[in-house]
Amino acid sequence: MTAPITELIHHSYRPPEGFDAPQPAVYKASTVFFPDVAAMRARDWKSKAGYTYGLHGTPTTFLLEERIAALEGGTDCVLTPSGLAAISLVSLALLHSGDEVLLPDNVYGPSKALAAGELANFGIRHRLYNPMNPQDLAAKIGPRTRLVWTEAAGSVTMEFPDLPELARLCRARNVVCALDNTWGAGLAFNPFDLEGDGLGVDISLHALTKYPSGGGDVLMGSVVTRDPALHLKLKLTHMRLGIGIGANDAEALLRALPSLALRYRAQDQAARQLAQWLAEREEIVQVLHPALPGTPGHTHWQTLCGPQDLAAGLFSVVFDDHYDAEQVDRFCDSLELFKIGYSWGGPISLVVPYDVALMRDPEVTPWPHKGTLVRFSIGLESAADLQADLAQALTRL
Ligand SMILES: *Cc1c(COP(=O)(O)O)cnc(C)c1O
Repeated sequence: MTAPITELIHHSYRPPEGFDAPQPAVYKASTVFFPDVAAMRARDWKSKAGYTYGLHGTPTTFLLEERIAALEGGTDCVLTPSGLAAISLVSLALLHSGDEVLLPDNVYGPSKALAAGELANFGIRHRLYNPMNPQDLAAKIGPRTRLVWTEAAGSVTMEFPDLPELARLCRARNVVCALDNTWGAGLAFNPFDLEGDGLGVDISLHALTKYPSGGGDVLMGSVVTRDPALHLKLKLTHMRLGIGIGANDAEALLRALPSLALRYRAQDQAARQLAQWLAEREEIVQVLHPALPGTPGHTHWQTLCGPQDLAAGLFSVVFDDHYDAEQVDRFCDSLELFKIGYSWGGPISLVVPYDVALMRDPEVTPWPHKGTLVRFSIGLESAADLQADLAQALTRL
């Protein structure tokens, strides 16, 4: 008979097998047990046929990886503790000293900061290209270019590039094409099959923080691929960097995924309604939403996302430049339902003013507007209530 304190750890009771319920179990582990030493030595941490260590996967994280790979139309998935960690993982896995990476000038801001910071420190050069001009990309792909980032649409200025053409250029030059697919969320278009004939990007990265989480309360990223060799490269770097995810965060994602498509469409519809309403207002000179005519790249959006008729619930407006930045700040401060905050895809509508001129290189992508840009992320509130909130805040300009 072992002592009670030992019984608290090694008690022989095992709950019966066969428990089944709507939500998958949350398995938590750093240590994973092997039945014997031979099994421990034989097990391959890279294989999903078994378990070796918490960082390399549990039933909970394997399940989430498979669901995200399916969502994006890929075959393999690596999960990271944030979207930005996924971006840095791709760069560290694929780029070596002396290599060059190309970024669209409207890329997610911290991605530029990584290139100008750590990547530059490691001897990796970056150049910016105009995503709306494929010829600019074609001209900038050089013998040292190993990776090209794309984003559709740009998440502040909303330009929608000719993504199939950008992917084709990368393929023709044998350069890895990575898409930050946070905006499309795996729903608006299939990143691995852009034209129905297998033309696609090589890597689809996603800030699961946004729509898949849907709560504004989880940070997570994913990197999905179709090429096993590319996946293996990413997986090795992922393991060596030790950037795994927590079981509770995986659970939050698994709970939110079943409603992803419903939320995305509802937020899209409300956003389009509000964007159209704002387009009629005299205070606004331009509404930027890829599904609205007049937004740069609208026809590319139509070709790629028209069949699904889907867009993220995200848009920007440019105020008439006779309103100064202070007045526009006051408009944002006067909103009551819209909260001031970064990120998007959650239940609460958000607003952020941006100074776009500071965010891009005027030589690469000149910004034609003088007025302040404000980006809205539409949540799950009633669109009528949001419209009334916008109307009252516009009177405070
Ligand atoms: C939010 C976001 C990221 C980064 O995601 P985090 O989880 O916040 O690090 C990357 N790309 C885009 C387009 C984003 O909107």
